[in-house]
Amino acid sequence: MILLNPGPVTLTKRVRDALAGPDLCHREPEFATLQAKVRAGLTGVYALDEATWATVLVSGSGTAAVEAMLISLVPGDGHLVTVENGVYGERLTRIARAHGIPVTPVRVEWGDTVDPDEVDAALASSAGPTAVAMVHHETTTGRLNEIEAIGERCRARGARLLLDGVSSFAGEAIEFERWGVDACAATANKCLHGAPGMAFVVCRRGLLDAPGRSVYLDLRGHLEAQEAHSTAFTPAVPALYSLAAALEELAEQGGWSRRHARYLEISEAVGTMLEAHGVRPWLAPGASSAVLRSYALPDGMDYATLHDELKARGFIIYAGQGELSRKLFRISPMGAIGDSDLARLQRAFDEILS
Ligand SMILES: *Cc1c(COP(=O)(O)O)cnc(C)c1O
Repeated sequence: MILLNPGPVTLTKRVRDALAGPDLCHREPEFATLQAKVRAGLTGVYALDEATWATVLVSGSGTAAVEAMLISLVPGDGHLVTVENGVYGERLTRIARAHGIPVTPVRVEWGDTVDPDEVDAALASSAGPTAVAMVHHETTTGRLNEIEAIGERCRARGARLLLDGVSSFAGEAIEFERWGVDACAATANKCLHGAPGMAFVVCRRGLLDAPGRSVYLDLRGHLEAQEAHSTAFTPAVPALYSLAAALEELAEQGGWSRRHARYLEISEAVGTMLEAHGVRPWLAPGASSAVLRSYALPDGMDYATLHDELKARGFIIYAGQGELSRKLFRISPMGAIGDSDLARLQRAFDEILS
């Protein structure tokens, strides 16, 4: 089965085999070596300077890392501005509310662009130290949000910029320094092509000066333990093994920019296959990431039918979320997808859609 959903992904044999690595106690030096290698590898994906940046591992799904980032990096007396143009942006607001963090959401229609001046206005009317949390690649629609102009507003107002990069890390350009990103949360099982279970936050050093609002999701506690070659709690060791193998593969394949190029190639090829049957992309050309494209459901076919017909032929696609579930479907090139898989996909579409 080939997964065309945006994570978890189809694993390579090497990454799947790594899951069955030796039993390992996380208080032994072998674990410390593995953890240090993965942390350095993650900081290195975007060639960040380890003197300035640190990667903090959190066992859990991507949302665990996002929640840890928000509750550890919005100061205790701080105010958060969130940007909402899809499910994951709305989740940032939900997380803040769950922890009693004062929050001002900047809302636009799902899939629309975000006006940096609206974010600036929300910052201007917020009291105390502020932070902005936003999604880089909004997986709800495939829109890649523009970060740089919002980063400029943040810098001008001394606000921290916290990025949900869960579905873009290792698949899209993330200009940490130029955009003024202070922290970016992501996961092993999307563009990094690892197994689910391990997430992380790449964070500017020196910002984790106060305890977070949580025990398990306190990034400062995790960072202190991990810098001391230890771990705060029992980590998902098999997921870490698989992430180590996935990082090796990413480096061997030429890093994030090569992966991005491959994603573009697959996304363009899938778009052409669908266009031949009159199936159109949901967003205007150029607005979508390489990591995911949304398509309007073909006339006269509901999502369940399309999904089941494709599943019977070995492919899993992804439904739209919420209101969009009746209107669109999504296809992601993440994971181990070869040219022969694409040829089979072409035949499957031709059979189902003609
Ligand atoms: C997948 C995703 C998440 C987190 O999802 P989990 O199911 O918790 O791994 C968060 N943000 C974005 C943008 C995502 O695509």
